[in-house]
Order: sequence, then C-alpha cells, then structure tokens
Amino acid sequence: MTHKSSPYSAATALAQALGAHDHESQGVVPAIHIATTYIRGADNSYPTGNVYSRADNPSYKPVEALLCELEQGHEALLFSSGMAAATAVFQGLQPGDHVLAPQVMYWALRNWLLNYATRWGLVIDLIDMTDVSAVERHIRPGETKLVWLETPGNPLWTISDIAAIAQVAKAAGAWVAVDSTCATPLLTQPLKLGADIVMHSATKYLNGHSDVIAGALVSADDSEFWQRIRAVRSQGGAVPSPHDASTLLRGMRTMHLRVREACTNAQFIAEQLSQHPAVLAVLYPGLASDPGHSVAKQQMHGGFGGMLSIRMRAGEQAAIHVAAHTKLWKRATSLGGVESLIEHRASVEGPSSPCPADLLRLSAGIEDKDELLADLLQAFPS
Ligand code: PLP
Repeated sequence: MTHKSSPYSAATALAQALGAHDHESQGVVPAIHIATTYIRGADNSYPTGNVYSRADNPSYKPVEALLCELEQGHEALLFSSGMAAATAVFQGLQPGDHVLAPQVMYWALRNWLLNYATRWGLVIDLIDMTDVSAVERHIRPGETKLVWLETPGNPLWTISDIAAIAQVAKAAGAWVAVDSTCATPLLTQPLKLGADIVMHSATKYLNGHSDVIAGALVSADDSEFWQRIRAVRSQGGAVPSPHDASTLLRGMRTMHLRVREACTNAQFIAEQLSQHPAVLAVLYPGLASDPGHSVAKQQMHGGFGGMLSIRMRAGEQAAIHVAAHTKLWKRATSLGGVESLIEHRASVEGPSSPCPADLLRLSAGIEDKDELLADLLQAFPS
C-alpha cells in the first residue's frame, strides 16, 4: 500500500476515516472481514492480493491508510499490540547490531531489550536521549544500526530532539525509530523530522477507549529494513483480530477531539499542581520551567500531550495514599483513554526503573478539568 496524500486536515481525515466505507453495501462504515483465507482465481493468482489473514486482512487497510496519512509515511502496518510492533523493529535487525535506546522509556520494552534482544545478539546501550551530545558520544558509525527514541518518554516525560538525533544517526548510518505513542500523530510527526519509522501503541490515544490492544508501525520508505519488519509480522502473525481493527478505526475517528481535551486538562493540572506545597515537582513538557520545554515547543504542535507525573514532597507513602483516595482518577495502569488514570509507577516498574518512588503518573482523560483537579486535591494526605 503506497500512501497518497489527502487534501484534507487531520480532523477531516480522522472523522471520515479518509472516506472508508463498505463498497459492496454502500454502508458508511467499512465491513469487518472475518475470513482467514482467500480463494484463488482460475489463473492461479489471488485477484485481491489477499492470501491468508495472518499476513493480510482487508479490515486492517482503512486503519493503516489513515495512520499513513497522519504520519505522512510510505506504509503502515497494524500489530496485535504496541509491544508486538516495537519488538518487530528489533527483530528486523541482525545479531551483533548495536542499538542506542533511552534510559527513560516504556519499562516493558526496556526489560525486553535487556532480557530478550540481547539473547538475539543485539548490543544495547541505554543512554540519556535528552542530550544530543550523549548520542554523538555513544554512536558507533557502521556498527550502530538503530537509534530508538521515545518522546515524551514514559513516565518522566523527557523530550528527545528527533531532528537533531536523526541527523547524528544518519551520518553514522543508523536508522531512527520513534515510539510516538504519547505524542500521537496529531502533536508530532517524527517522519517529517527525519525518523525512518514511527511506532504507536494503538491501545492508547489512537483507540482511546481502553477496549482494544493493538500497535502500529509507519515507515518513511520501503527500505530493506522495513521489508524485514513486514516479514516479521506476516511470518510471526502478531496481528489484531478484524473486530479489534474495526473498533480501533471507530476510536480513531474522534482522536483529534480527545487529544485536544486531554492536552488542555493535562496542561491545566500541571500548572495548578506546580504551585502546590505538597508537590515536589510536576513533570510535564508543557510547563515553561520543564527542561524539555524548548525542544517540545519546536516538535510538538497543538499541545504537549495528556500525560504528566507528579512527585509528592512527603515521599512514597504520600504518593500511594493519593492513588488510593482519588475517585474520578481510576487507579489502573495504561493511558490515553477518555477516562483519567493514576498510577504509582515505582510499584509497577521495579528496582531497575529510573522512576522515583514518590512519583504518580497521571493520564488526563477528557472529563471536566476542575473536577479532575478537585478530585486529586481531596486525595492529598492532610
Ligand atoms: N509504548 C508506550 C509509550 C507505552 O506506554 C506502552 C504501553 O503502556 C507501549 C509502548 C506498549 O503498548 P501495548 O500495551 O499496546 O503493548
């Protein structure tokens, strides 16, 4: 599938799913294709290009086309989870390849890199990706094959300068892949900034309703590396069900509205709590005082995301107390849904995590911002 640019804005492209509908019935919503296999033509060919649903399913196509449009890529592929999408990128590398990845990143992927990718023969260096000079120091020209970024980086919301790092990586012959889950395709377009691949946990903002696990990759071009990644998916079969792909498309149709509200709520809560004496620090790139703010201002458009973290001055027990006493903020893992979530991350991430014990991760939903703030404040220990 080669991407063709739409003349419309992201809002129109999303609301209309690029005009996708069911051509057979003229239904305004594309059909769900449940077949696992497809009939050959009399000439022995597959007339629709579909062979077997582990590799191809027409239900993925409208979602992939929409993502490709939003990210301005060459091709998008859906996966069964964000982790399946991310790990497919690393499985597209060769044993012995050197990889740079951030110290601050989605913890399960960091653990997978250290525990599984290393067994595969990849050489992984976790570095400070907020510092372009650290990338310059650690990159090994000819040996480093991939620089993995996550910006904003979960759960400290650190910002990496995609354009500057892509320049360093390109000069050394390395590919750049960006986990842009928390930036969403609406706030940042990594391919335009020089990245080769962008990854999303579609479980989060793309779907937005906490009822589908899915992932996606979008590539800037049809490189040999991308072809290997495509083969990892079709041979390994880490694809979503057609029903999940359809639910995901429905969720994406309101993403622009949800992301806008989540950004407004997160910015408001960050500003309010940064004044509060019980709060040691608010980690949010939308605050002028945040160390990532100036880079975020350049590469994020329309908001700084719906994710923020707060550090409680009274320490770990105070943080756990807050998470236990909110009513609107649901005490659950994950992020990017319409409902606000709160989580004591150190309890989840374990001792290898850079996450301080006094930190609460907040996923701002789309509820009323004053009610969200009041709910947090009433949960603060007296
Ligand atoms: N990347 C980020 C930034 C995440 O927050 C997550 C999940 O929380 C993932 C990747 C993994 O996505 P999934 O849970 O869909 O496998």
